Amino acid sequence: MGFRRNLVIRFSKWASNMSQKIRGGQGVTLPGYIARTLDHHILTSLSNDVRKKTFVVMGTNGKTTVNSILYHALAAEGEKVVINKTGSNMLNGVISAFVLATDKKGRLDADYACIEVDELAAMRVLPMLQPDYLVLTNIYRDQLDRFGEVDITFQKVKEAIEKAPKLTLLINGDDVLSYTLAQESKHDFMTYEINEQIFDDKSRSEIRESIFCRKCGHKLEYKFFHYGQLGDYTCPHCGLTRPAADFAAENIKLLGDGSSFDVQGRHFETASPAPYNIYNTLSAFSALRMAGIEAPHFEEMIANYDYANSRESQFEIAGTHLQIHLAKNPVGFQQKVSLVLRDEKPKDIIIMINDEYQDGEDVSWLWDVDFQYLENEHTSSIITAGKRGYDMQLRLKYEDIQSEVTLDMKNTIRDCIDHRTNNLYIIVNYTGLYSTNDLLKELADEYAGKEA
Ligand SMILES: [Zn+2]
Repeated sequence: MGFRRNLVIRFSKWASNMSQKIRGGQGVTLPGYIARTLDHHILTSLSNDVRKKTFVVMGTNGKTTVNSILYHALAAEGEKVVINKTGSNMLNGVISAFVLATDKKGRLDADYACIEVDELAAMRVLPMLQPDYLVLTNIYRDQLDRFGEVDITFQKVKEAIEKAPKLTLLINGDDVLSYTLAQESKHDFMTYEINEQIFDDKSRSEIRESIFCRKCGHKLEYKFFHYGQLGDYTCPHCGLTRPAADFAAENIKLLGDGSSFDVQGRHFETASPAPYNIYNTLSAFSALRMAGIEAPHFEEMIANYDYANSRESQFEIAGTHLQIHLAKNPVGFQQKVSLVLRDEKPKDIIIMINDEYQDGEDVSWLWDVDFQYLENEHTSSIITAGKRGYDMQLRLKYEDIQSEVTLDMKNTIRDCIDHRTNNLYIIVNYTGLYSTNDLLKELADEYAGKEA
């Protein structure tokens, strides 16, 4: 390891530290930016120091959870693992993760790296990182402005993969797009799938994308489908058919407060009742097995795994249970609608829609979510909020669902705590996540003050 690299790393850490002290703020990506400016090869150099393997997780939905499960599974086996924090999945964020994982002398002491990469950033990250394994969770339509239609994402991911020749892929075989991509790439790949119908109508919605075969353009036929375009597909014209799974979740049981299932004779019990978390858990475990890792502690780790990241997203304030859920695209939103409805206690629901750059400035995707299920006997009230609160209200109106609009989130949440069901769900898209989280922390302090 060069003396110069050492210096670059130490300077980057010091400068970002100083900047944080002077200007405040999070600065998660700053060390990466500085290090890359001083040394263009810094990421390649640091990732070469990973002793065993580097995993990358990509895909429209679920990548943060999958990457986190992978990290916890490896840590449970006593391995030292580099991971990038949520939201730092562009080039500078990835480099920062490596820089910040070094010791005082600028040395990296890591057995594995688990790195979540944004689909559009992959073209820059993958050639520098040269990972061993890629978990591709799915390819859905995401925020329209930034990702364009799903074809663009498909092409970007494909081009990025081509620049990482030693990569082995793990794909969701239920996703015809991921499967076609794996076939078109020259890489070795394995598949994971769910063969049982565990998703209900509320989480399913119609298939609105990718119903045509990418090879011949004919309409695909489905034996059954899970949600989005996921399911058991076949093309009657060219014969493209969902492949047999290398890893399948079987004997799936969805319980009120968790789930259980088997993979390759191993039995897992989880604390999440959300069916999409079966995919997330299955893909992480499959990735480990694909890499030849036995992971004997996986059962124990996953039984205690906090899918909801409760410290970040759930609050108890003056007897009211409040939870924040992020939903940033149609498929994700549909899954959250389904999850909220699994709770049969009376509840209030706030839906906050913003249209900042990170959210996607075009909110027309709201029309692709089946909201008609949202109103039932357990839903006490629905409130819309955010810069596009009125668009959201209009969307609900077309489903004959009554809602209120609020321009003052804080007071509305206070009202929910003081006068409503004591069970509040707040569904937000991207930029609403941090502001709502901060707001709930403030309110928690405020109410704690009142009680004291
Ligand atoms: Zn075809």
